[in-house]
Amino acid sequence: MRLVLLGPPGAGKGTQADRLVERHGIVKLSTGDMLRAAIAGGTELGRKAQPIMDRGDLVPDALVIGIIGDRLAEPDARRGFVLDGFPRTVAQAEGLAELLESRGLALDAVIEIEVDESALLDRIQTRARESAVARSDDDPEVAKRRFAVYREQTAPVSGHYRAKGMLKTVDGMQSIEEVSAAIERALLVPTGAPNRPRNG
Ligand code: AMP
Repeated sequence: MRLVLLGPPGAGKGTQADRLVERHGIVKLSTGDMLRAAIAGGTELGRKAQPIMDRGDLVPDALVIGIIGDRLAEPDARRGFVLDGFPRTVAQAEGLAELLESRGLALDAVIEIEVDESALLDRIQTRARESAVARSDDDPEVAKRRFAVYREQTAPVSGHYRAKGMLKTVDGMQSIEEVSAAIERALLVPTGAPNRPRNG
């Protein structure tokens, strides 16, 4: 199974990706985690990415498409994957399509976790308080910048996949369990079919 999870910062993509990994025996590919690992490892990529991430901006498309391309080439990704935090721009979505096509692969579904934005800053602030490892980008000012970047650059990615009939949406303002169940139900609906009532 090859999936993309979309949704604004704090929507629960990471949590739901972990659950998909457990249930479906696929790997989670999180560009945010990969970039944080590069920073921790003091690599060239990490040195480039850190100031950009600290501001809440997006790392250049070519860099993240490159790391995803390398990661997709590793053997464990053959069993399937869930992308968490990638693609974040339409150019990245197009880059991903090329990477997959070159390997004769395609996505099974793109799932958007829809959330009420005003509730999200609270969630992010709770994560900042409760997290064992502080994320500098959970700082309130940086979080606001991340939302602005999401609206400007990442929200169009949903429309891109909707136009291709690949987008499934789930209500993210429910418990973790309920969101998980909604994702599993959405995965049972063939791609291209509406996954909720049109007039509902
Ligand atoms: P995340 O953990 O997914 O919220 O990502 C943390 C930060 O890493 C983001 O705010 C961006 O600065 C950077 N980042 C992660 N994924 C991407 C991506 N696909 N494209 C550009 N920047 C990214």
